[in-house]
Amino acid sequence: MKEGYFMEHKYDEDCIFCKIIKGEIPSYTVYEDDDVKAFLDISQGTPGHTLVIPKTHVPDIFAYDSELAATVFSKIPKIANALKASNPAIIGMNIVNNNGKVAYQSVFHSHFHLVPRYSDHDDFK
Ligand code: ADP
Repeated sequence: MKEGYFMEHKYDEDCIFCKIIKGEIPSYTVYEDDDVKAFLDISQGTPGHTLVIPKTHVPDIFAYDSELAATVFSKIPKIANALKASNPAIIGMNIVNNNGKVAYQSVFHSHFHLVPRYSDHDDFK
């Protein structure tokens, strides 16, 4: 990772996910490079629930340009595969992105939920 990488990105000092990127708030990192960070969602209502965020502060999908979209979107399959490979019981995954309060977004730093689904899920037994 480049030294001082976060200086190259827009940073919002009131944003909880920017604080996670800077290491001011702890997180369990799943994957990280110069452009994105993936870390476990604090809720863990579903084990392995992971969030993928761009390191630059963008509030939602409406603020993406095509370069940022290409950068972030292109990394999601790799992170999803790594998550799936971490546990053979993971046989599916929901990938969800909420935009705006009306769409149940509660943290206004754009993020993608990776929610693993397991072979022992009650509905599919
Ligand atoms: P919702 O809260 O409806 O899922 P979002 O799509 O904005 O809305 O998701 C924000 C997510 O961020 C939530 O799943 C929440 O559990 C997670 N979260 C909030 N604070 C932290 C934190 N400090 N570390 C990891 N995840 C967090």
